[in-house]
Amino acid sequence: MSADHKNYDYDLAIIGGGSAGYAAARTGAGDGLKTVVIEGGEEVGGLCILRGGMPTKALLYAAEVMHLASHPEAWGIHAEDVGFNFARVMARKNTMVKDFADYRKQQLVEGEFEFMRALARFSDPHTLDLSTGGKLTARFFLVATGSAIAPSPLPQLDEVGYLTSDTALKLSHLPKSLIILGGGPIAVEFAQFFVRFGVHVTMIQRSPRILPKFDPDATGEIEKVFRREGVTLYTGTKLLDARRSGNQKEVAFQHGAQTVRVRAGEIFFALGRTPNIASLGLERIGVQVDLRRIVTNSQMQTTVPHVFAAGDCTGLHEIAHIAVQQGETAAHNAAHPDRMRQSNYRLLTEIIFTEPQVAVVGLTESSAHARNVAYLAASYPFSDHGKSLIMEAKDGFVKLLADRATGEILGGACVGPLGGELIHEIITAMHKYMTVHELAAMPHYHPTLAEIWTYPAGELSESLRTRGVAARASSRPAD
Ligand SMILES: Cc1cc2nc3c(=O)[nH]c(=O)nc-3n(C[C@H](O)[C@H](O)[C@H](O)COP(=O)(O)OP(=O)(O)OC[C@H]3O[C@@H](n4cnc5c(N)ncnc54)[C@H](O)[C@@H]3O)c2cc1C
Repeated sequence: MSADHKNYDYDLAIIGGGSAGYAAARTGAGDGLKTVVIEGGEEVGGLCILRGGMPTKALLYAAEVMHLASHPEAWGIHAEDVGFNFARVMARKNTMVKDFADYRKQQLVEGEFEFMRALARFSDPHTLDLSTGGKLTARFFLVATGSAIAPSPLPQLDEVGYLTSDTALKLSHLPKSLIILGGGPIAVEFAQFFVRFGVHVTMIQRSPRILPKFDPDATGEIEKVFRREGVTLYTGTKLLDARRSGNQKEVAFQHGAQTVRVRAGEIFFALGRTPNIASLGLERIGVQVDLRRIVTNSQMQTTVPHVFAAGDCTGLHEIAHIAVQQGETAAHNAAHPDRMRQSNYRLLTEIIFTEPQVAVVGLTESSAHARNVAYLAASYPFSDHGKSLIMEAKDGFVKLLADRATGEILGGACVGPLGGELIHEIITAMHKYMTVHELAAMPHYHPTLAEIWTYPAGELSESLRTRGVAARASSRPAD
């Protein structure tokens, strides 16, 4: 039976204590809501800390050190017999993950809210059943249950067995060779990690290019670097079969008119993730799920208005800071139904931590075309830039997109050294609705990587001036 309206156990019950859930709990409790977080995972910490951004970036950084140490000749340095101890590479990552997870645990346990360990599911619109046996009621709910590895599209793959981003993080030794299925962010980051530690990597991607969400110039750079580093890359494929062949695993796929078979010691499955919502009882309370993700409005409300959802279970972006923002928005809106906030993705950023890194904010050229936005674009290569030449980091480029009518910066892309750091200059500029004229006029220290932005900004500024475009952005909200 549902609880009486005035008699709920909590104002806000949050299912899931990952990035979105923790951020929501902090915000909800801070705004005076009696809040509880219910976390049902085997470990506490959430995906980002336990099996996502933190461990993968720790490993990628180790791979970068390995690569630099193995290729110092350009600076006149000889390094013979550069080697590695894989157990220590993994141990360093494990220690970091444990520290981050312990800290998150402490934040959850010592927060201004209650923290419970249980799996939760709805038994009615205001009541959760807990796997520990109890029930609890709340006025508002936030579903922040994250995502899980998607099921494989081929039953044969399940029979043969494969690594995923979860299990690869627990490897005790490296395979000699690896077939990576997929070409999205997780696939490319792991591909570079493995190839830089000496694994023979073959990538098989269904789309015509890897990282298909990015502009072709960006993915072209990464494909070039991957091929140079020894990754065998097949794009535009259709997966046909998988089987064991002796002590090897074999994958068959269509590539053009041919059927290609490749063998390796192991397969890495990176064909996506799916929202973790199957056992929540959402259908029982009328929450709409579409393409396996929870449908929300921009206020992060589901189709049942007192039930909010945030993070990967909404399936929109699968990015940690977006999960945090969505969690904060949901909790704010539960606390202040009279002045709700909207999620806003104008500054949507995505970063791939390969080397060179791939980073974009705002519009890409493809998304600008798709939305019929009139823009001008200018790029500048790192192969012609002082600081990157000093660093021998000559792959990649920066690109800016500006509004044709106002010069306002609409998007930026950086494929290059520390691209994930450099893109923050454009995030800042876009946050402040700056124009390319303002960015071009901003002082930049020399010689730095960051000053590369002044070239496309200057080019666009000049081109807009000759077209007589005013120097102020039109969409900047009034102060
Ligand atoms: C390999 C990899 C690398 C990544 N790298 C990056 C990166 O570099 N940068 C970036 O921004 N993002 C990255 N991501 C994505 C990022 O990790 C996620 O977007 C983010 O962690 C999602 O947070 P969340 O709160 O939605 O979900 P989670 O952090 O997954 O939290 C969900 C929580 O809900 C719990 N739960 C689930 N069901 C129940 C239930 N019924 N009852 C109670 N509790 C439940 C789970 O145990 C879990 O703790 C990466 C992801 C992967 C897989």
